[in-house]
Amino acid sequence: MAKRIGILALQGDFARHAAMLRMLGVEAVEIRGCEQLDDCDGLILPGGESTTLAKLMDKYRFYEPLRQFARRRPLMGTCAGAILAAAEVDDPRVKPLALIDISVQRNAYGRQVDSFITEVAAPCLGQPPFFRAIFIRAPRIIGCGPETEILISFQNQPVMVRQGNILVLTFHPELTADPRIHHFFLGMTEKREQPSLAGR
Ligand code: GLN
Repeated sequence: MAKRIGILALQGDFARHAAMLRMLGVEAVEIRGCEQLDDCDGLILPGGESTTLAKLMDKYRFYEPLRQFARRRPLMGTCAGAILAAAEVDDPRVKPLALIDISVQRNAYGRQVDSFITEVAAPCLGQPPFFRAIFIRAPRIIGCGPETEILISFQNQPVMVRQGNILVLTFHPELTADPRIHHFFLGMTEKREQPSLAGR
């Protein structure tokens, strides 16, 4: 049966994730109400503005349903989505979901260098062993707990990290034509039931 992947569609660049998933032959569902989560095999928290996303998640009562979801099913957070999935955020306006044992600093690459594109070594993705990473007002992952696995680093800092069924990255794979990170995430939906912080 075709997989069904939800993308939180309250704000941000959810449409680009949907397009990438459809290209991979997967059904992509834009999630605007938590009752839609039930039918999904996995979920993406897209990039956007984490302060706005946090407000909307609160307003539409997404916090507990998302934590429930992440107990059993894979979730990928990109950029603002990674900030929301973190255990700790440096900005008190953003209440994180605490799904993965990382702490993040928002907008950490400085104002004048808002966006940049760079090739990062990505042996976890097979050939070629690098990925063209697009960082847009990106956060930095400044701390990782002992159960996390650092999959991609840039400038000696983690930029893609996994813990159980939670995958986070501080860049935007949906803005490239390279589907390997989405493919990697889809691979995680084959094996459910991996522990995450949300299960504790
Ligand atoms: N700077 C944004 C934030 O802190 C994240 C940017 C992005 O998702 N591209 O929410």
